Amino acid sequence: TDSSSPEAEQCRVRVYVRKRPLFEYEKEEEEFDVATALGRKIVIHNCLTKADLRSLFISHMGFQFAHAFAESVSEDEVYRHCAADAVQHMLAGKVATVFMFGQTGSGKTHTMSGLFRRAAQHIFRSESSVTLTAFEIAGKVMRDLLDQSSKELKIREDKSGKTQILGLQGSDISSPDALLSGLTQAQGGRATRATQVNETSSRSHAVFCITKGDATLTLVDCAGSERREDATQHDARSRKDAAEINSTIFALKECFRVMRSSKGQPPYRESLLTRVLADSFGSAEALVVAIGTVSPAAKDTEHSIGTLRALQQLQ
Ligand code: ADP
Ligand code: MG
Repeated sequence: TDSSSPEAEQCRVRVYVRKRPLFEYEKEEEEFDVATALGRKIVIHNCLTKADLRSLFISHMGFQFAHAFAESVSEDEVYRHCAADAVQHMLAGKVATVFMFGQTGSGKTHTMSGLFRRAAQHIFRSESSVTLTAFEIAGKVMRDLLDQSSKELKIREDKSGKTQILGLQGSDISSPDALLSGLTQAQGGRATRATQVNETSSRSHAVFCITKGDATLTLVDCAGSERREDATQHDARSRKDAAEINSTIFALKECFRVMRSSKGQPPYRESLLTRVLADSFGSAEALVVAIGTVSPAAKDTEHSIGTLRALQQLQ
């Protein structure tokens, strides 16, 4: 039975969660699964040992979203619930944004790749050409993901107060295969650069924009959410990253809140990410989808709960 909520899937702001499977190597390391996703709910059991799972007295935390995808759910189903409407929105001439949010290794990029493939097919069923742009935000630095040779990207405001990204290369695309390969190339560009400057993709936000006229579908693969909890540790660099990511999440939360209530202006100037995505929040007909990804492993419990708490505040 499909127990997702029709109302929750018709809002302007929709929040989903996806649980990834436990990996073979985790099983070999005696890791165990503490997460249960069913219908709209996901429950995290508070277990120290595998035997705890069978105890009646173990505590747990439950969260509810538009839908909670179990590890067995297909990429098609995730697409149908989370992204098909966003694509439809863009095809109807409006703006839509899909965010991937979660701990590093929880499946953000994996889920995004599944959406890319299906979105590319879907878009070209009614369009004959679109423009693709892709960039990365690492701290205060923005780089083009389709043009590896480009310098840092700068932003400025035009006369009407609209934020523009200077020097971003748009790529004209006229087939689903070309779109998929552009998206894949951009995703790869992030990884390559990451190793070059010894910085992992977990510290940056990757933004992919598919545009047709005034309509844009934006897909955002956010920086790993776990850094928020690392804020008190590590070097100054990590602390700075954590502060940036923290303020981004806070800004996103506030923007979502204003969108939900349809009152006032979203405070998009609060972070670089929300600033460049201002159009995605500002328009009255904008659709925003957040997909949180969580690891089922007991060792990740703290991070999973952190992700779920943050997600809950978005809806
Ligand atoms: P993130 O981008 O959040 O850091 P990834 O998407 O890179 O995480 O996922 C980490 C690893 O887990 C990858 O090898 C990926 O293929 C695998 N993975 C993630 N989610 C799933 C899933 N739902 N089903 C199968 N494998 C997954
Ligand atoms: Mg990733």
